Amino acid sequence: MPPEKSAYALARYSRSADSIRQSVDWVRTHNSQQFLESFYFQYGHQSIADLGHTVLCFEGVSELAASEIEDEVLWDGQAKSSRYQDFSKGGFITPPELAGDDLNAYQNAGNALIAAYKDTHAKMDAWLREQLPRPEEMKPEAYGRNIAARAFDVARYLLFWGVPTNVGQVTSIRTLEKQIRRLRVSEYAEVCELGLEVAEACAAKPECLWTDEEAEPLAPTLARHAEPDEYLGKSNADLALWASQNFSAPHEEGVRVDLVRPNDTLTEIAATLLYPVCDVPFRTIYDTVRGWSDARKSEILDVALQSRGRRDDMLRGFRGGQYCYDMLIDVGAYRDMHRHRRCHQYRQAYSGLHGYEVPRQLVQAGLEAEFRATMDAALETMHHLPNPARQYLLPFGAKSRFLFKMDFAEAEYISRVRSGVKGHFSYREIAWEMKLRMDEQEPELGRLIQATPPWIEDPLKR
Ligand SMILES: Cc1cc2nc3c(=O)[nH]c(=O)nc-3n(C[C@H](O)[C@H](O)[C@H](O)COP(=O)(O)OP(=O)(O)OC[C@H]3O[C@@H](n4cnc5c(N)ncnc54)[C@H](O)[C@@H]3O)c2cc1C
Repeated sequence: MPPEKSAYALARYSRSADSIRQSVDWVRTHNSQQFLESFYFQYGHQSIADLGHTVLCFEGVSELAASEIEDEVLWDGQAKSSRYQDFSKGGFITPPELAGDDLNAYQNAGNALIAAYKDTHAKMDAWLREQLPRPEEMKPEAYGRNIAARAFDVARYLLFWGVPTNVGQVTSIRTLEKQIRRLRVSEYAEVCELGLEVAEACAAKPECLWTDEEAEPLAPTLARHAEPDEYLGKSNADLALWASQNFSAPHEEGVRVDLVRPNDTLTEIAATLLYPVCDVPFRTIYDTVRGWSDARKSEILDVALQSRGRRDDMLRGFRGGQYCYDMLIDVGAYRDMHRHRRCHQYRQAYSGLHGYEVPRQLVQAGLEAEFRATMDAALETMHHLPNPARQYLLPFGAKSRFLFKMDFAEAEYISRVRSGVKGHFSYREIAWEMKLRMDEQEPELGRLIQATPPWIEDPLKR
């Protein structure tokens, strides 16, 4: 199925009693673009786009562009191997920004590197054959391939970002949208153009079909909406400017591998935000920032957030610290909270020994007594049944204990998304309390969490 159609079918599946076969039939006769327009783009149900995947290939892009393409956390793919393929055959990419003498200088240097790569590979191949003679039991072809690969490992040092490569990727259309938006604000013209080309590919009929079926565009709605990620572009520029005015440290190479163990998340996040716009080791940045006042550290966070829009996730730099939220919550809320993936979760046994929640509205409606009687009876029966089968009787209102470990950005994300008026009152309160706990312990970070208090209600909003 085209990814936008499968996203529609599976999203609809969560809200309808239909089987998947019926849902797919429904999608055949209904407009998936209209559905995505309202639910994905208008209401912001972003996880709908997790439900459709695309296969996309980039051919003849520079190694530099490939590296930018692959810079996604949730990305599956493979790029051309510098161990098994000869990179001397494809020439090299010339950045469209270059002209005149610069262009000539680049091309001469590029040709020299490719020639040296080819020459080094041949010489290393010969040298390795002398050093590592073929064992009798090894077939000559296998021996030749192994030696060639080892020689390429050495020759690789002469390859450069401009050599062309091929990349094949599988991503959800959510990741793809993020990727297009990020590529479109790249500082490299080639990468910006690739962002546009990906969007065009999403709107066009796909190539390389497996069968002769009539092909539909893969993700036309996404293609219409994948605008450049202004926040990413702007915040990088803002941070670079701030660093140039406020941060200086003498040039230093540092050690090859350093292990820094931050013990203060505010400092860690501020230093991480500065890292991409500085050229000294992280330890130096961290140690410098640690000496600053909280107000100065917070200034960096504010600079990184000043151009953030309503739907923008915090920059990666905010994924710092480790927060362990221990929650004694109803199972229904856990079912919802459990779905957050950018964290590590642990649970204790479903014992049924922690009591249960009584919804306020149920009390107001005069139903408390009968509710309690039903819950008590179920829990009583549960405790007489053998374990683990008895856990099947645990009502969703019963409480159980769960540990959620996450970084600051995920705490902010869960508090913000789950406290919104659209949500269930149970997890809304939990999400709000997550913010309160952060406020108490990390006021400079807690203030950045824009959670909606539970007393702001709009029950008719979906
Ligand atoms: C109002 C509301 C209604 C919902 N209704 C339903 C429902 O009817 N049925 C149902 O099953 N679920 C429902 N959910 C749950 C929803 O489908 C998600 O499972 C849940 O929101 C957690 O996923 P997330 O991506 O929002 O956050 P997390 O998993 O916490 O991820 C945090 C961030 O990491 C990134 N990320 C994580 N995983 C991926 C990924 N695979 N691809 C791309 N980016 C990723 C994204 O930037 C994301 O914002 C609902 C959620 C809300 C808030």
